[in-house]
Amino acid sequence: MMIRMFCFLFFLSMIPNIMAQSNFAIYSDEQMTSIARFERAAAYENLAYLLVVREIMLLSEADRRKLINKKTYNDIEVYNWLEDRLYSIINSLRSYQDIYADFLDLKQFSDNDAFIAEMRDQGYGKWLDYSLRFYRTYVLEQLKMKVLFPRITSEIDRLDSAEILGDEFQIMQFLLTFDDGPTRVEGSTDRIIELLRKEKIPALFFVLGENLNKRLSKQSASKVNELYRGFHIGSHGYIHKPHRISFDWKTSLDKTRRGMDLVGEVKKPLFRPPYGQRTKELLLDLKKNREWCVLWNIDSRDWNKKMHATEVAQRTIKLMLLKRKGIILFHDIHWRTAEIVPMVFDYFRNSPIQWKDANYLENLSH
Ligand SMILES: [Zn+2]
Repeated sequence: MMIRMFCFLFFLSMIPNIMAQSNFAIYSDEQMTSIARFERAAAYENLAYLLVVREIMLLSEADRRKLINKKTYNDIEVYNWLEDRLYSIINSLRSYQDIYADFLDLKQFSDNDAFIAEMRDQGYGKWLDYSLRFYRTYVLEQLKMKVLFPRITSEIDRLDSAEILGDEFQIMQFLLTFDDGPTRVEGSTDRIIELLRKEKIPALFFVLGENLNKRLSKQSASKVNELYRGFHIGSHGYIHKPHRISFDWKTSLDKTRRGMDLVGEVKKPLFRPPYGQRTKELLLDLKKNREWCVLWNIDSRDWNKKMHATEVAQRTIKLMLLKRKGIILFHDIHWRTAEIVPMVFDYFRNSPIQWKDANYLENLSH
């Protein structure tokens, strides 16, 4: 009885927290039913991001170094990157100013404190507090990747102009990608595919050769083919290790190509390196085989168990609004991803965004 009571009280204490997050994570819970609404929410996310960028630019060099805390830290490079973010976002906000001229005066934004006060006056205080916390974590994530690049490569930058990141899409176009599968029969891969079919939303699956072979040992190739029918699949290598010089990446790519030939849904050979780590040599090899390196610009972090499923969905939505377009990274090996994805779909239901089909990759040429 005591335990049950304790559990109940514990559950009650969780509610305000979750409720607060779902109410204030995104500047408005109005439905994304028009381009103007999408742009308005996107503009607010960009402004919150910029507040954080400017906050870090205003720090002393020593404080920035301490914050990022990486041996390879180079302040000029970091400062330039932040400045570049600042100007490119302000320029893109300007180009959409006609859409939000009625609610946003960019001149106001020249002073962080005044802008924050204005946002609080307009009743966006809770959203702003959540967003500042969110973007402090997010910008730091980006900066850490930036100072490691290219020694440790990631999605933060291109190593070659042919790499696909999603930032080259048209506004409001998004491509869903799911990595690391397939799972066992009737596992989360099946559950996610069923959900996508029901919603009629296309997606691209980057299969891990090892997992594909495991599934092929339990199920015929035609059954696996049926599972993926209508979707695109790409290669994520044979085993989930960084495909670096010290690793036999050629064998990893070849073995996965053979497994994928059996399944046969591949239209354009696509490769996504585990952890986004790749080398110039690997990219050259892809080019020779007329294959494409596909990265992402929206990382859901659905694998992070420290984040509640709702938080993962909110992170994805916020980043979709912040970037306005792009490739979203999910993992079909996590059961809860099948709960996160519908929350994102619901937010953008009846909205003008387009869930892109990986078909478009057919028209690209090296
Ligand atoms: Zn992966």
